[in-house]
Amino acid sequence: MSIEMDESQGAPRRGPRGGANGADKKGGSSVRKRGFTRRKVCRFCADKTLVIDYKDPQLLKYFVTDRGKIVPRRISGNCAKHQRKVALAVRRSRMIALLPYTVTGA
Ligand SMILES: [Zn+2]
Repeated sequence: MSIEMDESQGAPRRGPRGGANGADKKGGSSVRKRGFTRRKVCRFCADKTLVIDYKDPQLLKYFVTDRGKIVPRRISGNCAKHQRKVALAVRRSRMIALLPYTVTGA
């Protein structure tokens, strides 16, 4: 009998929780796409005139984060082939100081 009372108190909590779970899932998946960076195709495959050049930091900086890290393929949208080329170019570019290895708090 005391259990019944407990359940009646717990019931309101359980109801919303079940509903929230479903909403959470939907919210999570919709939050995933963060507005921009919606490029599906590799930009180098799409535009044949673009050449990955380690002497071109203007181009390479699109594939490097603020902190100097190379942007992962799932975010940059590059294909494997071009991501490799980009990564190589970024590394070379770092060697000749066109791109930073790290960016520490300024
Ligand atoms: Zn590509």
